[in-house]
Amino acid sequence: MRGRFAPSPTGPLHAGSMVAALASWLDVRAAGGQWLVRIEDVDGPRCKPGVDRLILAQLAACGLIPDEPPVWQSQRSDLYQAALDQLRLQGLAYPCGCTRKTLWLALQAAGREPSRHGEWVYPGTCRGRAVAEDGPVAWRLRTVDGAGQAAGEAVCIDWHDRRWGPRQQNLSRDVGDFVLKRSDGLWAYQLAVVVDDAAQGITDVVRGQDLVDNTPRQIWLQRCLGLPTPRYAHLPLVLGPDGDKLSKQNGAQAVDVSAPLVVLQAAARHLGLVVPPAATVGAWLAQAVSVWRDGMMRDLF
Ligand code: GLU
Repeated sequence: MRGRFAPSPTGPLHAGSMVAALASWLDVRAAGGQWLVRIEDVDGPRCKPGVDRLILAQLAACGLIPDEPPVWQSQRSDLYQAALDQLRLQGLAYPCGCTRKTLWLALQAAGREPSRHGEWVYPGTCRGRAVAEDGPVAWRLRTVDGAGQAAGEAVCIDWHDRRWGPRQQNLSRDVGDFVLKRSDGLWAYQLAVVVDDAAQGITDVVRGQDLVDNTPRQIWLQRCLGLPTPRYAHLPLVLGPDGDKLSKQNGAQAVDVSAPLVVLQAAARHLGLVVPPAATVGAWLAQAVSVWRDGMMRDLF
């Protein structure tokens, strides 16, 4: 079993990201597997210099040490390009020359409303069109007439979340052909995460509930690329004072690792784990692993 924690270095770890770090670590330790850390810095302009090192130091202070050297997505473009090339050869990825404005006009003309967090479902404007690739184009993945589908058949992803049970999404209807590489040349999270989870042999993804919406897209990409699908568990989110997911925008503070036991105990409490107090981080983590293992036996995970 191999699990991972994959922070974006847009800010130091806060109470919410600590929950995902601790849960993924406990899940792997309870099964005697390996835990990896991957710095997801594909969206360069949003990343802050030095925050990657700060995150690794915060994790280390809490005793969460990866079993292999961390990797940085910004250094793995060749892998993402190879995956995109494969999808192009398979006829599954295509260039899209739509700008936000042309997209908006096309959607208005079709009388469509934004869905899913205010995002638009891509109407397939450039699918099957000859778009010159020398200008600024995005690359999209087909969710219609894709891998192993009959013509016009929708891509419906049925999958299982270890915490929330069976789930389903009609990708063609609810998401549309989604972006793999942006027109500004940046790799999309969806492609990078799928390529890296496979390249790193990740069998178990444990992460926040805010990412659950992305999972069907990732499973579809895995199928198109012929990659295995890991098991997924999405954790309850830590909410900010405004009731939204805790984030820098609603005032999330960096966790104070001068008191690592306090940080760990708060993360465990959020996960519903009752871990007895301990004198050291090592002793506390050992106890937490047994509590997690007992939970797994009771099918909590
Ligand atoms: N980098 C993503 C984030 O920080 C997490 C990706 C994942 O766990 O799949 O929100």
